[in-house]
Order: sequence, then C-alpha cells, then structure tokens
Amino acid sequence: IAAEIGKLEKLKTVSDMAASISHEVRNPLTVTRGFLQLLRDPDLTEKEKSNYIDIAVGELDKAESTISDYLTFARPSLENIKVLDLKKELTYAVKVVEPFAAMNNVCIELQLHADVSVAGESQKLHQCLINLTKNAIEAMPDGGKLVIALQKVNGKAVIIVADTGVGLTDEQIERLGTPYYTTKEKGTGLGTMVIFSIVKAMRGEIEVDSEVGKGTRFTILLPVAEAI
Ligand code: ADP
Ligand code: MG
Repeated sequence: IAAEIGKLEKLKTVSDMAASISHEVRNPLTVTRGFLQLLRDPDLTEKEKSNYIDIAVGELDKAESTISDYLTFARPSLENIKVLDLKKELTYAVKVVEPFAAMNNVCIELQLHADVSVAGESQKLHQCLINLTKNAIEAMPDGGKLVIALQKVNGKAVIIVADTGVGLTDEQIERLGTPYYTTKEKGTGLGTMVIFSIVKAMRGEIEVDSEVGKGTRFTILLPVAEAI
C-alpha cells in the first residue's frame, strides 16, 4: 500500500498552532501540580508516592516533547540554510538514536549508497530523521530491524527509513501528519507533522509504504544541491 503525502493542507496555520501550545502544555503541568500537592500527604505508602512521582515525571516529559515538536513547527521556514552532506547527517542521526534502538532490541542497518548533498538546516533535518527513526523503533515493541538507506535516484537524493514493525492501515496512513493523531498512550501526535513540515520546507516529497504486521517504509525525496 503506497500513499503519497505531500499535502500539508491538514496543518493548521502557525498562529493556530501557537495558540494551542499553551493548552497542550498546560494540561500536563496541571496534572503534575496536582500530583506534587498529593505528595504532601504524610500517610502515603511508598508505593503510592512512587506512583505519583512516575506520573508527574511522565507528564513533564510529555510537556517537554510537545514544546520541542512545536518549536520546529513554529519556524518551518529554513533560516540557516547550508549544503548538507547526507552521509554525515544520516550517520549523526543514527548515533543519536542508537541507544534508544538498543534499548528496544532494534538493530540499525545504515546503507550509504551515494554521496549526495541537499540544501537545508542541519538541526531540522536531524529532528526530521530522529522523529522518523523514533517512530520506527516505537513500532517494533518486540524488537526488529531498522534500515536507513541513502541513494541517488533520477537526480534526487532518496532517504529510506524502513522498519519491521506493526505497520499502518490505509486509514492510518491518511491520518499521518494530522496534528494530535497518535495511537500511543504517551504520544503527542506531533512528530509526523514536524516531519512533513520540514520535508516541505526542503522542497521534498514523502512516500509511505506499509503493510500491517510486516512493517513500514518512509521514502523521502529531496532535490540535490551541489556541494561547495
Ligand atoms: P506520536 O509518535 O507521538 O504518536 P507521531 O506524529 O510521531 O506521534 O506519529 C503519529 C502516529 O503515526 C503514531 O502514533 C503511530 O500510530 C503512527 N506511526 C508513525 N510512524 C509509524 C511507523 N513507522 N510504524 C507504524 N506506525 C507509525
Ligand atoms: Mg512520534
């Protein structure tokens, strides 16, 4: 099943997003505040205390990921554009997610088949790659293989991120990139929106191929930039 996703019409305008950030961050802060207040109770058992602390920390983590996802979205235009060597960028991204992969019994295979450069902002490209690989790893709860490949096809740079995870239905593929669409208990539903917004800013395209129970492949096509 393949679906081409270049459409960002689903996305709200930046100002709408800015307005909803306060809501999205306030919720976990309110929950955290509530549990910190509860911790004042001297009659709590150790188990209750530890449970409240876990919830508070989990909510703060959620607020933190919401903020970092929004920060990218609030400035989707690329401000600090450089020619980026994709071999270097992919190698860096793999280094960052490697511990998370290892923790989840996921083995990463990096296949650098081409020397190719694109124009973009290194930090944003990293965030895009990290969001993609994080989702891929999270889709493999019992471990698996994550292939990250770089090719040059028809004059375009092609980045493939393929997992052996749970896969997506057609309906789910359609919903990718919609703000707050998540199937995870602690998900923000902002990761794919950020991916799409960065790829769009780099004048690229995304294709998603997936089979339920088999895995998912994201293919990102980017215009090539001449290395300086
Ligand atoms: P979050 O990761 O916080 O849930 P995302 O926007 O990153 O939010 O992803 C939205 C949803 O898309 C996920 O909850 C998941 O259901 C689905 N998804 C994204 N990437 C994959 C993947 N590689 N395999 C399976 N499902 C995926
Ligand atoms: Mg995600």
